[in-house]
Amino acid sequence: MLIMKRLNVVAYKNYIVDKFKKYFSKAKHRKYWIYGLSPIILFFILHFLFPISTYIPYSQIIISQEGKILNAFLSKDDKWRMRTEINEITPELEKAFLAKEDRYFYYHLGINPLAIMRAGFYNIIRGKKTSGASTITMQVARLLAPKQRTYWNKIVEMFRALQLEMMFSKKEILTLYLNLVPYGGNIEGIKAASLLYFNRLPNKLSIAQITALAIIPNRPTSLALGKHNEMIEKERNKWLNRFKEDNIFDVQLIEDAINEPVEAKRLEVPALAPHFANYLHKQIPATDIVQTTIKADIQSKVEDITYAFTRKLKGFNIHNAAVIVVENKTRNILAYLGSPDFQDGENAGQVDNARAFRSPGSALKPLIYGIAFDEGIITPKSVIYDVPVDFSGYAPENYNRTFNGMVSVETALSHSLNVPAVKILDQIGVKNVIEVLKKAQFQEIRNKDKNLGLSLALGGCGVSLLEMTGLYCAFANQGIFEPLNMIAPNTANLYDDKKTSSAEVRSEQLISTEATYMLTEILTKVTRPEMPSDYEHNPHIPKIAWKTGTSYGRRDAWSIGYNAKYTIGVWLGNANGVGSPELVGAAVATPLLFKLFNIIDYNSPLDWFFIPEELKTRLVCTVTGNLPSDFCESTTSDFFIPTISHTRRCEHLRYVFVSPDEQMSYCSECLPQSGFKRKLFPNLAPEIMAFYESNQIIFNKIPPHNPHCTKLLEGKSPKIVSPVDGREYLTIDEEPLELLLHANVDNDVKRVFWYVNGKFYQAAQATERVFFRPYRGEVKISCSDDKGRNTDIKILVK
Ligand SMILES: [Zn+2]
Ligand SMILES: [Zn+2]
Repeated sequence: MLIMKRLNVVAYKNYIVDKFKKYFSKAKHRKYWIYGLSPIILFFILHFLFPISTYIPYSQIIISQEGKILNAFLSKDDKWRMRTEINEITPELEKAFLAKEDRYFYYHLGINPLAIMRAGFYNIIRGKKTSGASTITMQVARLLAPKQRTYWNKIVEMFRALQLEMMFSKKEILTLYLNLVPYGGNIEGIKAASLLYFNRLPNKLSIAQITALAIIPNRPTSLALGKHNEMIEKERNKWLNRFKEDNIFDVQLIEDAINEPVEAKRLEVPALAPHFANYLHKQIPATDIVQTTIKADIQSKVEDITYAFTRKLKGFNIHNAAVIVVENKTRNILAYLGSPDFQDGENAGQVDNARAFRSPGSALKPLIYGIAFDEGIITPKSVIYDVPVDFSGYAPENYNRTFNGMVSVETALSHSLNVPAVKILDQIGVKNVIEVLKKAQFQEIRNKDKNLGLSLALGGCGVSLLEMTGLYCAFANQGIFEPLNMIAPNTANLYDDKKTSSAEVRSEQLISTEATYMLTEILTKVTRPEMPSDYEHNPHIPKIAWKTGTSYGRRDAWSIGYNAKYTIGVWLGNANGVGSPELVGAAVATPLLFKLFNIIDYNSPLDWFFIPEELKTRLVCTVTGNLPSDFCESTTSDFFIPTISHTRRCEHLRYVFVSPDEQMSYCSECLPQSGFKRKLFPNLAPEIMAFYESNQIIFNKIPPHNPHCTKLLEGKSPKIVSPVDGREYLTIDEEPLELLLHANVDNDVKRVFWYVNGKFYQAAQATERVFFRPYRGEVKISCSDDKGRNTDIKILVK
């Protein structure tokens, strides 16, 4: 059966070929074909010689995640011509335009001979030109290259129309047409018209609006939307009635459309997220439609709240702000505000403060503590010393200029104490922190890494709000950093700047999941800012972990917070860098941060971060945060990372042999046979003792050591070699004098303690070079070694 069929096919093919051969064997027939084909050949030659250009410069439009237009830029030829895509053309839109312009659009090849004949006929009869002969394809040809209306140009148009038909599908030609139709002024194309007159996208237009837009292109000046609405309504209804006769739309739909008033007015071009849009416009100017990650509703809320908030700060000479909202799961930037008022020329509203490099104040401290958790040197309950310290000439002070003595890491971070942060940075090393910041793509820090020192902990570096928000978003993602997204992946393919393309997204673990969790726990304990009383008992307020920052000279106020869902970064200040006494992170930036969280994340489910499996708890002594010894009376629960966190045993007390009257202490060398007792004394570090002494804080001091002790006499007390005892030192020309403190010590000495005029100055390794700047006058310099031996010298500074 199958073979039979195949035979039939072969036989049929042979039959056809035979017929053709016979047909072309006659010269007459061949001639017909050559004459017949020559116009086609001619068309192809002309098509080759005069190719048609279909390049259309479009306005760039910046689209939100939901597809709303956030912002737009004039095309290269200064038109509002926004590209409509094929899938945006609804059947209604197509029906109305075809019914109005070119009913036989799908049946002709770019030229409609019948229409031309009819138009020619009327031209002769009525003696005037009537339109209608131009197909949509011919109109596209004319709109692409406008020319005077002459018969010759008409012929050129027809040729161009044939070219278009050969190159594009009918749908594509219709799309070109809808992108080029004029609507008066510099508005072209259906998208710009529907957006700028009806405030909606083409696929959301009503039948009445579509019909109005279909009739205007023929008379864009006499039927100007917004100006001649009444006339447009009349003309529109005329066409709607014709549509009814021709059954273009459902009768009821047409009736409704006729009753719909024309409420068009010329609207402003959307201008949401202006700094963000400008940035993308510069980065990818060739992309007509930029699909971004911004959520229009969140963006406009952020803009409104920040504008209202900063209005109230104008009296304090605070004029600028920047806000970034990120969705943690996707790392999408949902809102981006570069300044509260783009139009405010007086206060540099066009400056994008979200990208400006500013001093972060204390806002980098959490990362420093996080790294220290991973190094194992501290845990949240570890006690560190908040006392005056001098790091080779760098003497950090606290914000309120007081010191707190012994504090837990938890308190030090949540109260943003400076000395503990600098101390911890000193212990983990500035280099380590810079390496992590480089992983988190901090540009200015990468460029100036050589110049950075311990002041990094207190804001001695340049960071942008965008970078900081990215860092905190990593805290909200188990310590894993990924670049924040600005544009949706489908646009990313068109992204011509490879540096920021999503193809290169790399994850970087900045700090461990365990360290991140400990940080988050501490950062949620920060005292909440003062808020209207109804907030306090409101269970819908989202839980947030956050940290503030205030730069030196009160030039920048930061507050960056996160919960399970969002990370929000807030910066307040002035674009020109001028400070204000009110520019304090906790005072101005945090209230705005909370306002934003409450609006964006109000009433959200109370999701929070899970405790990582590897993070355990243990009891530690409350005095030191170390593992309890027998004498430790009170303990508390603390997080730790097994095999990483320190396992220091508490030594907050130590047994000392003393005389019965407790006036003298003994060591094992000089302990008498009888007449002594064993007593517990606080085992305080020299800097804490010095701090207590200078603040008149009473503590249980170990009595002086037995002066007859052979051990004490055996060893040599430190010999101060610089400065030289009794010498005069001169200060020249107000240049601050810097003196080297150095002592030769006995072999068994590891650490020395320097005192200036009886006040503790610095602890150092026995061989370390320590510098200090003396006041004028007589200065007493003392050096004690770790065995308790002391030497004093005196110098005179003039
Ligand atoms: Zn203890
Ligand atoms: Zn002794």
